[in-house]
Amino acid sequence: MNSTRPARRGFYFAATRGFLIFAVAVACLAPQGLSQQRKAQPAKRRSKAQAQKKAPAIAPDVRAALDRISADSLRGHLSFIASDLLEGRNTPSRGLDIAAEYIAAQFRRAGLEPAGDAKGESYFQTSEWVVGPVNNNFVELSVDDGKQKIRARPEQLAALGVKVEQKTETAGSSEKQVVKLRNVVGLLRGSDPVLKDSYVIVSAHYDHIGVRPAGEGDRINNGANDDGSGTVSVIELASALASLKQRPKRSIVFCAWFGEEKGLQGSRYYGRHPIFPLEKTVAMVNLEHMGRTDDSEGQKLDSATLTGFDFTDLGPIFKAAGEKTGVNVYKHEKNSDAFFGRSDNQALADQGVPAHTLCVAFIFPDYHNVGDHWEKVDYANLAKVNRMVALSLVTIADSAEAPKWNEANPKTERYVKAWKQLHGK
Ligand SMILES: [Zn+2]
Repeated sequence: MNSTRPARRGFYFAATRGFLIFAVAVACLAPQGLSQQRKAQPAKRRSKAQAQKKAPAIAPDVRAALDRISADSLRGHLSFIASDLLEGRNTPSRGLDIAAEYIAAQFRRAGLEPAGDAKGESYFQTSEWVVGPVNNNFVELSVDDGKQKIRARPEQLAALGVKVEQKTETAGSSEKQVVKLRNVVGLLRGSDPVLKDSYVIVSAHYDHIGVRPAGEGDRINNGANDDGSGTVSVIELASALASLKQRPKRSIVFCAWFGEEKGLQGSRYYGRHPIFPLEKTVAMVNLEHMGRTDDSEGQKLDSATLTGFDFTDLGPIFKAAGEKTGVNVYKHEKNSDAFFGRSDNQALADQGVPAHTLCVAFIFPDYHNVGDHWEKVDYANLAKVNRMVALSLVTIADSAEAPKWNEANPKTERYVKAWKQLHGK
């Protein structure tokens, strides 16, 4: 069915004739063009091969660690984390708590040092949120005398065995109730006697938006790509990098945050209660939407991008790692800066730490929807992108040069100011 109305038939005829002339011209020229290209090919291939030959190859030990990153392992982890059993891991919820235990168990399996409560006996950094009265169908949870607040539905808390009170004169007189929310934190201690006391954070948020309050059929927002894909990437990176015979010089801190969907709550809590000194935290690499390649603006295979791409000097490190692992790391002209504040990197950037979020697809069809299922993730691509991330992390952690904010970019002014404050400059 062509959309052209009869009146336009004349135009169509003209177009076809024009096209024919064009086709003939191309046909005449093509062989030349093609031969030039073919002639060019060997040169292009030669320069690419020379470039790869020139670029120091990946050290065998690091290569072995990258090869441990497997699509099957990622699928295995995500099929649990994003299963209906965890009911979309709302903050707070039982599903969230089960996911936290699972992540801690995987950090334990990888041999990371516990870096949470009780001077590092636990992998959990626990925060205690005071339960307020019900107000307009919501309950306010607050921590540190209201420095951070989260809104939850009464039934959400009831499911956790928390008795919620209606807002009345006497509300709050009864015994204070708290809800515990946990970041999960594990450490891969560095090998250099000095640089090991500096830290590179790799993180993701393990929460999502839970169950739809009403509606027919499937009501569970499983959050496989948002951000189950980032969470299982952190688990898989921990297992791979912990297998290195030669540990990176700096220490790497593996973090899974709660409450991102409720306003970056877990990462903000860490920013105010850092387990490792922020002034010694040289970078944060946050992972989001790593698994789906069907971005709303088209297929995104073998590629990844950083938010705030040129806010710091980290971009080229990821690009170089991408060249060695077959992943095109690029700046997304429209979304790079616009999405800088849309995830947990923002919380550490506000403290002055050079921080970015890395993602494969910014927006995908099932974003914040019940259809965000683990079966729709491209695990081969996820594994490939994670090998690029792993190589980037090793490069950052082995470099004596700490990453820097790009002061020439006016958009970094507030972060540069925070960095100077953090470093007493
Ligand atoms: Zn997310």
